[in-house]
Amino acid sequence: MQRVRRRDTGPELRLRSALHRLGLRYRVDAKVPELPRHRIDVLFRRARVAVFVDGCFWHLCPEHGSVPKANAGWWTRKLAGVRARDARTDAILTQAGWEVVRVWEHEEPDVAAARIAAVVTDRLGTQPRRCSGRSSSAVRENEESPANAGLS
Ligand SMILES: [Zn+2]
Repeated sequence: MQRVRRRDTGPELRLRSALHRLGLRYRVDAKVPELPRHRIDVLFRRARVAVFVDGCFWHLCPEHGSVPKANAGWWTRKLAGVRARDARTDAILTQAGWEVVRVWEHEEPDVAAARIAAVVTDRLGTQPRRCSGRSSSAVRENEESPANAGLS
């Protein structure tokens, strides 16, 4: 029997080394109050970025994911359940102010790490600062564009 969740898989370790090479600090297999029963593969607490490394099979990667032919009905429901859980996780974290980054296990670790680094840097650079007495018009100019417009 194969377990769904396991620690320190090859893809996770390779991603973590790539992040480390970029000088990023992160927590591994961490929990957040918003999701007490869920562990997050790589967590950037200050930037509030949560990274999940998704396995191609269980999370139905568009390149390598496929439903096994034997017991196809059961597998279809099972894998749909995993996707639904991912979506719930993302929604809870996003509503709590986290940014979720999902990386496929097949992704080149350096490429994925660079993507994550960009998100972390961006989040740290745009975190709300204490009011410095500026007029409210400055705030309006910085209004965000519609979030998650790239979601399919
Ligand atoms: Zn894949």
